[in-house]
Amino acid sequence: MMYILQADVDNTWLAPYAYTIVLLGFGFFLFRVFENWYASNFNKPLFRHFFVYKKISAAQVTILENEFYFYTLLSAKHKRQFKHRIATFIASKEFVGRDGLVITERMKTLIAAVGCMLSFGRKNYEYSLIKYVLIYPEEFYSEANQAYHKGEFNPRQKALVFSWKDFEFGYRINDDNLNLGIHEFMHAMQLEARKSRDIDATRFSKQFQNILKRLTHQEVKDKLDETRYFRAYAFTNQYEFMAVLAEYFIESPTDFKDHFPQLYDHTQKLLNFRFAGY
Ligand SMILES: [Zn+2]
Repeated sequence: MMYILQADVDNTWLAPYAYTIVLLGFGFFLFRVFENWYASNFNKPLFRHFFVYKKISAAQVTILENEFYFYTLLSAKHKRQFKHRIATFIASKEFVGRDGLVITERMKTLIAAVGCMLSFGRKNYEYSLIKYVLIYPEEFYSEANQAYHKGEFNPRQKALVFSWKDFEFGYRINDDNLNLGIHEFMHAMQLEARKSRDIDATRFSKQFQNILKRLTHQEVKDKLDETRYFRAYAFTNQYEFMAVLAEYFIESPTDFKDHFPQLYDHTQKLLNFRFAGY
């Protein structure tokens, strides 16, 4: 008796709150449904970025302005987003120098910049499969393959590994279609697309299938043979193909589009890359 009375007295005031929580939950659910519907219909996320902006230091901004051409092509709003993403990336990864290399602010900024450039069209831009960024001064011996490497993505150790010499070489020359940073970040993005089901992963998988389908067309095969446009390494397997494709896309978009317009279109949609003249 006492119990029932208490329950009555204590709980009635909760009712409006309970309704509100249910309504909010339902509203949120509807929003998610709409967001997914939008992403699959228009091949791009409804929102890429919410209205929060972390800042980076003045020295880091100078590094971007002087050394990162892509950044200079962005609008003021996109620059703010880009800086926010770099700050978040740097804060969420652990950078480790190997073979005596001392990690500098410049190294962190430029590696984060390359990663955030490749993922700039995505809502989910943080590379959840990467926890550590290991940097060697130059080519390093990889126990896994028993060979010297310039870079690798090691999902078991959640590590992205670079030779700093080769990383710098990759991004400094803007149009030679060699970009070690882009290459390794694409490996991480592709594996994440296989493991995740968010809107960016879904779009990645859909456009990746389109790319594979395109490659089975005889005219495309002939043209690939004839022009030898993509370097031979691309045809090692489907992962290397995507990594090399991303390098060409970022470094020489106009040339890529001229040679293989449909492949360019699918790659652009896969990355949702609609800024900086792409
Ligand atoms: Zn590779």
